[in-house]
Amino acid sequence: MTILIKGARPYGEDAVDVLVSDGVIAAIGEDLSTTAETVDAGGLVLLPGLVDLHTHLREPGREDTETVLTGSRAAALGGYTAVHAMANTDPVADTAGVVEQVWRLGSDAGLVDVVPVGAVTVGLGGERLAELGAMADSAARVRVFSDDGKCVADPALMRRALEYTKALDGVVAQHAEEPRLTVGAQMHEGERSARLGLTGWPAVAEEAIIARDVLLAEHVGARLHVCHVSTAGSVELIRWAKSRGVQVTAEVTPHHLLLTDAQAEGYDATFKVNPPLRTAEDVAALRGGLADGTIDAVATDHAPHAAEDKECEWSAARPGMLGLEQALSVVVDTMVDTGLMTWREVADRMSVRPAAIGRLAGHGRPLEVGEPANLVLVDPGARAVVDPVALASKSRNSPYAGRELPARVVHVLLRGELSVRDGKVQK
Ligand SMILES: [Zn+2]
Repeated sequence: MTILIKGARPYGEDAVDVLVSDGVIAAIGEDLSTTAETVDAGGLVLLPGLVDLHTHLREPGREDTETVLTGSRAAALGGYTAVHAMANTDPVADTAGVVEQVWRLGSDAGLVDVVPVGAVTVGLGGERLAELGAMADSAARVRVFSDDGKCVADPALMRRALEYTKALDGVVAQHAEEPRLTVGAQMHEGERSARLGLTGWPAVAEEAIIARDVLLAEHVGARLHVCHVSTAGSVELIRWAKSRGVQVTAEVTPHHLLLTDAQAEGYDATFKVNPPLRTAEDVAALRGGLADGTIDAVATDHAPHAAEDKECEWSAARPGMLGLEQALSVVVDTMVDTGLMTWREVADRMSVRPAAIGRLAGHGRPLEVGEPANLVLVDPGARAVVDPVALASKSRNSPYAGRELPARVVHVLLRGELSVRDGKVQK
């Protein structure tokens, strides 16, 4: 299959034509021509396909809220060509059998590469290590291990997990939350939580685990990845650890780059999330950390939930928000349109580095001849109001409902074939 992309702007720079053939970039130049299919990309920004380190696809177990197929559609529409599917499914993805099941479902859907994350501990129980080696050796080739939703709180167990994943060239992705400090927590701990009468989730509960884990990673000589960093103090700790040479990487979510704890004022549980939305000072520090590379990646923490688990009293609601379809728009809004990051840096934080952290071959590659044609074309000038009813996700818990955001994903290619064309999924 051959496709000629006419007039695209790689990383937002000068327009070129890009010829894609047999799954790879076959030529880049001016005035290329072909007898094959042509895609008019005049004015569109061309980036490597986005890679998400943190997606909840809910299958197996909660197919009423998302499936691998509906989540793959949402991911493709968001500009992604690969997503990591978190392990907190039912059953938990803690064996070779479950990760292979998720991997096969992704392969059958065929819209993005669905990369299963393996659980660190059996059943996310935090007591015994799962079969990390068997998951790494499976057809799913698991390299990212996480109990996300829960923290690997026991330091001895965390140390052993780091030792095992080091031997597997893998990484532990830690949900940093000291559980003894967040019992009953509902929102960011501060003046606002006190006034609203909601139990606080203090910044120190995240920072204490990050401080411990970067020291453990240094001691073991292993890689550590920190999920959804949410506080200014966490950014400082990671900056310090990197300056010491610790092999630590970190991600931030789109919602933590845009929204603050002020969203809790209306008690609309759409805005309940774990870790919680923080202060404007934290948002500024997260943007700064992403811009200077202290935070390596944007990861969605896409977390679909049923209406009955969100349209209820705040304290009874489940934490989590949709993210896949609006992630790039939020990053453009908060980082590009503000002058904090270039398009090349967007490619770095949303494709290159997450692919490297996940050890994904074929993703996050340079826009060069011979490289796999995993590509996204974005209209930077388009603006649209987010309508949750129009989303491809099976759930509707978008924190961006009614918000106008910039940038529209127009076309996406997975290994040289259009998974999204003119903003429409092709399967
Ligand atoms: Zn988490």
